[in-house]
Amino acid sequence: MTRGGGAPEALALALSPLLQPLRLLSRAGLARVAVLREIEPLVQRVVEQARPYAGDLEAGLDRLEETARGFDSAPEARRRTAIAALVRELAGLVDVPEEIAALARDESTPTSKTTPTSTSNTTATPNSTRTSTPTSNSTRTSTPTSNSTRTSTPTSTSPRDSPSRPPARRAAIAAAAQKAGLTPDPLLTPVDHLRGVGPAIRDKLRSKGLGTVQDLLLNLPRRYEDRRKRRTVAEAPLGERSVIAGTVAWIDEVRARRGRRLEVRLRDDEGGYLMLLWFHYRPSLVQRLRTGARIVVSGDVRAGWRGGAKTMSHPDVEPLEPGGGDALPSDPASDDSFGRVVPVYADVEGVPARTYRRIARRAVDEYARHLADVLPRGVLERRELWPLAEAVREAHFPDRSADVAATAQRPAGEPHRRMAFEELFMVQLGLALRRRGVKVEPGIAFRATEESIERIVKSLPWPLTRAQRSSVGAIAQDMRKPEPMNRLLQGDVGSGKTAVALCAALLAVEDGYQAALMAPTEILAEQHTRSLRRLLRERRDVHVELVTGSLGARERAHAERLVRGGAAHIVVGTHALAEEDTDFHKLGLAVIDEQHRFGVMTRASLMKKGARPDVLVMTATPIPRTLALTLYGDLDVSVLDELPPGRTPIATRVYRDAQRDRAYDLVRRELKAGRQAYVVLPLVEESEKLADLKAATKERDRLAVEVFPDVPIGLVHGRQSAQERNDAMDRFLRGEDRILVATTVIEVGVDVPNATVMLVEHAERFGLSQLHQLRGRVGRGAAKSHCLLLTGTSGAEWGPAARERLKVMEETTDGFRIAEADLELRGPGEFLGTRQSGMPDFAVAELARDQAILQEAREEAFALVESDPDLRKPENAALRDAFQNRWRGRLSLARVG
Ligand code: ADP
Ligand code: MG
Repeated sequence: MTRGGGAPEALALALSPLLQPLRLLSRAGLARVAVLREIEPLVQRVVEQARPYAGDLEAGLDRLEETARGFDSAPEARRRTAIAALVRELAGLVDVPEEIAALARDESTPTSKTTPTSTSNTTATPNSTRTSTPTSNSTRTSTPTSNSTRTSTPTSTSPRDSPSRPPARRAAIAAAAQKAGLTPDPLLTPVDHLRGVGPAIRDKLRSKGLGTVQDLLLNLPRRYEDRRKRRTVAEAPLGERSVIAGTVAWIDEVRARRGRRLEVRLRDDEGGYLMLLWFHYRPSLVQRLRTGARIVVSGDVRAGWRGGAKTMSHPDVEPLEPGGGDALPSDPASDDSFGRVVPVYADVEGVPARTYRRIARRAVDEYARHLADVLPRGVLERRELWPLAEAVREAHFPDRSADVAATAQRPAGEPHRRMAFEELFMVQLGLALRRRGVKVEPGIAFRATEESIERIVKSLPWPLTRAQRSSVGAIAQDMRKPEPMNRLLQGDVGSGKTAVALCAALLAVEDGYQAALMAPTEILAEQHTRSLRRLLRERRDVHVELVTGSLGARERAHAERLVRGGAAHIVVGTHALAEEDTDFHKLGLAVIDEQHRFGVMTRASLMKKGARPDVLVMTATPIPRTLALTLYGDLDVSVLDELPPGRTPIATRVYRDAQRDRAYDLVRRELKAGRQAYVVLPLVEESEKLADLKAATKERDRLAVEVFPDVPIGLVHGRQSAQERNDAMDRFLRGEDRILVATTVIEVGVDVPNATVMLVEHAERFGLSQLHQLRGRVGRGAAKSHCLLLTGTSGAEWGPAARERLKVMEETTDGFRIAEADLELRGPGEFLGTRQSGMPDFAVAELARDQAILQEAREEAFALVESDPDLRKPENAALRDAFQNRWRGRLSLARVG
């Protein structure tokens, strides 16, 4: 592995905080991987700090960061492979002690060595590792849903930097075809047919998934830099990229502990000095930078090198004309790195940015015209979309759209709209087709009579709200139809979805079918079971059974017998329900709670357990419309937009750590009034020096001794056994414990109406939607409730940004508004809390900002399927091909129906 670091010692130092948890793990053994906490944020922080020293190892840092993505919520098997990947990436960047390096070997990866470029996928489980030949989408979709793959189908990074196809093989095929005298698709021309691409660069491009000119054309810039104007050193703001021209005043090669360093002092025309630094470079660079040479450079301007002069590391350099000094080189054909809005691409290791730009320029000039439009002409015209070739050309080298690109500094304007439209259109087309597919094949036609509905509703302890009634009505109507129901029930926390689900389940049970209710966590499944049993107290004839992974072998076998034999009418469970050993007698209805938390395959395998059962998806995470249209775009939607009566709003307040006593006073007051309280913590156990987070157990003891003596305090967290947790929940539910100290495992589903106050520690560490969910645990009775958000003490924890964010919580209890704010702040992947959320990986489209494009694309796609359900019309032939070849894999990754 080549190591072309910026400042190796500094890099090693910056990355060293990662060694501590790894050392801990190597001592404890990889089997104890569950002890690691908060790895993802740690890696993010460390990577951020290391970036300035990375030189051209930035890509390695990106991959390092990638390995930790989703770590903290990942199941054990995935954590282990993630750790191995992390160690490998780390070892590629810095020297790693042997004991830690061993962690990468312990996790027995079947393939010998992972190449650097494919490690972006190493968070995947062994049986889906794509190290040797990155086979295409088919691998993803056909991956069996074994225990370990369930929640960890390969989480590819953005398609821009991870190969989704085997470029080498495809390029080889194209080359062979050419040899055989066939005229292949010009877009499949291997990259080394481009002038200036030899075998060495070809290999480097291939290793990034760029094997053909088409790959190059579709590898779009991440951002743009406006290098049309230049600045003097004095003008150049710190922390920003600038273009600066000047004369080389002084050049020196310095011996450093590891290798050499090149220092160049550049004097601009006003006498300002800029220090240029290279930590690794070729001899040819030194030749170009003779004293007195006139050059123009572009790069990040940083402070703080030897007495405060401004510096630039690894800038792009271009010689200026010796005579006519002032003009920037501006002939775009000669060089695209100056004098224009310059595209910045994802790094390709070993290919300098400027070289890559020249290659991209050739690909665009010679081949972009071959990019055909697959979108139907009518769509292109109605929506006034640019031809794809033109959009791609402009996306790479903005010309007509230069000002837009310069202002946005990232893909924007018409080129972006054209390409985002196509992506979104394809996904919506998939949804439209799937929706049609579901409706076309027969399912179960339940009786679901009005009388049954009446009877069922009457048996509940309270009348349904208007919104609940109309949802039950819509569901019953779906259930009566012979085609399978495919409906989403959306409702804010506490809106009463469980009761609606129960009504649907009982309609199925009345016809002799079973209903399944699948929840994302054990706690939630247990809670559902409790709620359903409570609601069914009067109905001794309906048996509710719980199936989770943590049941003992005997209990599990017993539960499964009841499910198989049909004695269990309503079966509640976690993903264990979708596992192979769970056989249903006669599954008629599947209710899936918080489906975005499941792997897509989980839902699909649950579906297979019945004869096309009706499906009701529930979500309490209010999902912004854009996301809903993408995640649930093929579903009919019912919304519970009303809370059951008698609720008073929850008063929310943010307190900084210093105001802690005031928060405690409020809790005390509520306890005195006979109420109960939650104290929510972000973590279970303290990891070695990881953070100053308050461990749950310790916090419970502290509260018991110092703050609330004489008050019985219970404890739930994710590492208890189901039994312990159940007992703790029961004690709190019965009011024996007055305070419940909990980690976020109580996020959803816990229902204790007498609990009127929730205190959240380190609230700044939670996502807004998560806080909203948490807050929904109080305000469940008639009494006024309180949510107290405590923040940490440091600047970052209590800075303006954190305050601004938390203020949203004070201002509104509208889950949808919170969700929109959250999506904006964190992006869809983070927002949904998992990379396995069923979201397609968009290369271009950004849901948060492309809502208008999405809406248009959706209208067109659904209209198209309406008019040409099988895409058989000749004018749609190109679309049909493209959909099948290019998009099907991605769509089935997105959703499996
Ligand atoms: P969700 O799952 O939508 O967050 P739940 O189904 O847990 O909400 O219901 C929240 C609370 O409201 C529960 O305590 C439930 O018993 C109660 N509830 C539900 N529907 C009604 C209703 N129509 N009238 C009064 N209380 C209700
Ligand atoms: Mg619920």
